[in-house]
Amino acid sequence: MQQEKKAAGGLGGPQTAGPDVPGGTTARLMEIFNRLYRYFGPRHWWPAETPFEVIVGAILTQNVAWKNVEKAIANLKAAGLLSPEAMARATIEELEPHIRPTGYYRVKAKKLKAFINYLQERYNGSLEAMFARPLEELRPEVLGVFGIGPETADAILCYAGNYPIMVMDAYTRRVFSRLGFFGARASYQDMQDFFMAHLPRDNRLYNEYHALIDGLANRICLKKAPACLSCPLAGLCPRIGLEETGKSKSEDSPGTE
Ligand code: SF4
Repeated sequence: MQQEKKAAGGLGGPQTAGPDVPGGTTARLMEIFNRLYRYFGPRHWWPAETPFEVIVGAILTQNVAWKNVEKAIANLKAAGLLSPEAMARATIEELEPHIRPTGYYRVKAKKLKAFINYLQERYNGSLEAMFARPLEELRPEVLGVFGIGPETADAILCYAGNYPIMVMDAYTRRVFSRLGFFGARASYQDMQDFFMAHLPRDNRLYNEYHALIDGLANRICLKKAPACLSCPLAGLCPRIGLEETGKSKSEDSPGTE
């Protein structure tokens, strides 16, 4: 995710590492988490009143700033369309004007309807039934829905379904390649496998960690001229890929989907 989001969630305080040796990867990842948590505090993700609103936001936020998504969500709410039942009754053409602020609104309206059709056909419109499925079975299913890639699927599963899965994005790649954990061209799956192999399987930890990485990359570990002198990770970071001027040599993509 590449935008600010606020809502319920959070861990309530610094965490202890999972099974690992002192100085091992898990301990280092937890030290980073704890420093970020002390610096930013709980980020209260995701900004939504219902799981369905999380899902709609996760689809609409693709390639657009969060403030535009907020406008679209407000439009859908005002039009009485922000529920699976109401959206199932609406046509693609009826959805389009409400989500216009998010850009690519025609294809995003199709994506919303594709998700609704999947929910109707597979779970009779019930998110409760959908989120009762085991993660290993549900994730490939959600990834099979038109317009839902790994980042969107994992945002839905982590923030709407409360599954223990951590969302990756271009921000994760930028920060953790500079920290030296993986290369600047690491794939989404490589990054996720790395985090989930070294962190406890804990939805609240993954929820907060992803949100904290977003905060750091948005405000401090910028693509160009990162503010390393004010960074809470400065003492831990070899700043891999950065010139002495602070400019990044890497060419990050704006998103992972
Ligand atoms: S020290 Fe600099 S490069 Fe390293 S994480 Fe912080 S801002 Fe990014």
